[in-house]
Amino acid sequence: MQSVTYRVDQSPVTPYQYLQDVEKYAGNIECLECEARAWYVRGSMSGGRERSACFAAHHTDECEIRTVVLVVDDPDVVPDEGADTARIVVDLDKRKAQDIMVPEPRDRQPTDTLWGAIHKKYANAADYPINKSLRQILSCLIKNPSYPEDDATIRIVCDGGRIALEGEVRQLLSYQTQLSGIDPGVVRLYWGLITNVNRKDGNTWLNCGDYRTEPSLLIRDEELEEEMLKAFRLKSLDDLEGAYFIVMGWLSGSETKPIINFGFAKYIAFVKYRVRDEDEV
Ligand SMILES: [Zn+2]
Repeated sequence: MQSVTYRVDQSPVTPYQYLQDVEKYAGNIECLECEARAWYVRGSMSGGRERSACFAAHHTDECEIRTVVLVVDDPDVVPDEGADTARIVVDLDKRKAQDIMVPEPRDRQPTDTLWGAIHKKYANAADYPINKSLRQILSCLIKNPSYPEDDATIRIVCDGGRIALEGEVRQLLSYQTQLSGIDPGVVRLYWGLITNVNRKDGNTWLNCGDYRTEPSLLIRDEELEEEMLKAFRLKSLDDLEGAYFIVMGWLSGSETKPIINFGFAKYIAFVKYRVRDEDEV
């Protein structure tokens, strides 16, 4: 899209205008027609061809402004048939024996581990059973936001059998706009869409819309940021603009400005989209 609507006063915004005042527009723009949340996509060079800057959004099916095609890079996004059961068990220890483990490349030095011994068995956070299963749930949610439709339960076990989270998915999982009344500090699940990323006072914020009034995920230090970059093979956290997330974490902040906190990259999963290049089929 070459034009979107500024939600505050319904005025049209072009990529050029957006760049003149990112602070004002980031997280506050939507599709002219279907009003889906939009985000800015930087121009890029690929295969010698220049793609100009534009806006993207996850449009509704009926929207006629679907000029930008979004693709998921990772085919792993298709949920396993088995993910749609009434009982979702994410058990690190039990699954350790299965072949989701990625062999350590031989030429790699043993790395320091933030996550204990189990860490070494996985090349990155995306290979963690927790992360993988969260991603499957997220894939289901993107297709059907009221997933799961019954009283499905989830149990997340980690660090040698400790139960990190257990209960009915519907009681434990909230969308970004449904955070009121949730006790701060209690570990549960959150999901939503990141529309913009900003940095302030050494912290990085993944914003689910207007950073003043809508939730943000807090990347509390450089260590977590580094871990995220490595785990999800990102050049920059800016690449998460337009990504759906699901995270096991806790709330802080206030009712008017909720902040979602989480400890490690293995507790978050993303479904990332990028704008498809013209020469791709
Ligand atoms: Zn639209």
